[in-house]
Amino acid sequence: LVSRKNKLEDTVIDVQGDMIGDGEPTFVFGPCSVESKEQMERVAKNLSEKGLKYIRGGAFKPRTSPYDFQGLGIEGLKMMSEAAKKYGLRVVSEIMDAGDLEAALPYVDVIQIGARNMQNFSLLKALGHINKPVLLKRGLSATIEEFVNAAEYIAMHGNPNVMLCERGIRTYEKATRNTLDISAVPILKRETHLPVFVDITHSTGRKDILLPIAKAALAVGADGIMAEVHPNPMLALSDANQQMSLEEFDLFYKKLRN
Ligand code: PEP
Ligand code: MN
Repeated sequence: LVSRKNKLEDTVIDVQGDMIGDGEPTFVFGPCSVESKEQMERVAKNLSEKGLKYIRGGAFKPRTSPYDFQGLGIEGLKMMSEAAKKYGLRVVSEIMDAGDLEAALPYVDVIQIGARNMQNFSLLKALGHINKPVLLKRGLSATIEEFVNAAEYIAMHGNPNVMLCERGIRTYEKATRNTLDISAVPILKRETHLPVFVDITHSTGRKDILLPIAKAALAVGADGIMAEVHPNPMLALSDANQQMSLEEFDLFYKKLRN
């Protein structure tokens, strides 16, 4: 279903009136985790001042250590949704458990499936039965074929509105948090008709190369970019080292757009 062989035209996904995959790049920025109303308010205001249409933030966090901050859950989604409404933004947020989907849906416009759950097949099947778009991230060590098959699960179970997100894969290289597989973008565009995003934050894990990586992603045909932005990264409850401050973000976005 997701194969280019079966459908030549690109899939364009309507997210509350905004078209993803129509040729204009989509930008999804926001903090790693939703932490407070005030934090979401500050980020949402900054995004809307730039004319951006989406905000991200995790409320269900897939943390490596069980002792780390696990996210605010539905309460966090409510905080983000409130800020998003006030500033006319659409919400992108990760769900890890099919059992949380129903409660989360009123607050989320695009359901993100994180790298760690790319092959959570019962979750993928459940996503087939919802009527909101899904942003599916590539697994930590998933091949492109496995990634495309995961998208196929969602489509096969009834939801054709799937976007793919390359977010770096595990290699021996330690200079970046993960290794961005830039060639995955044109390959996914060739082999599927789905919109393709690049998460420049989790793929690199470093702020000093975000601009060239974002430009590279757009140059190879990405339909969208995701990155993490936090009003006070040093105090962030997750991914403190890799999130842009609002000042860094202002400069990054200005340079990216001209
Ligand atoms: C995220 O985007 O919040 C995240 C946890 O990313 P990934 O699933 O790609 O690691
Ligand atoms: Mn993060």
